[in-house]
Amino acid sequence: MTFKCGQKPGTGRYVCINCGEDLNLDDDTDPLPPCAKCEKCEFEKG
Ligand SMILES: [Zn+2]
Repeated sequence: MTFKCGQKPGTGRYVCINCGEDLNLDDDTDPLPPCAKCEKCEFEKG
């Protein structure tokens, strides 16, 4: 299952499908930002 930036999939760790960079959402109301490294917008749950 993948998530796009702007979605609010909830707290947890997400990994960029393109480059493997990970990020953490620490609030259920936070939208996924674009990847800090490659600016792609597709993640999977880490
Ligand atoms: Zn990336």
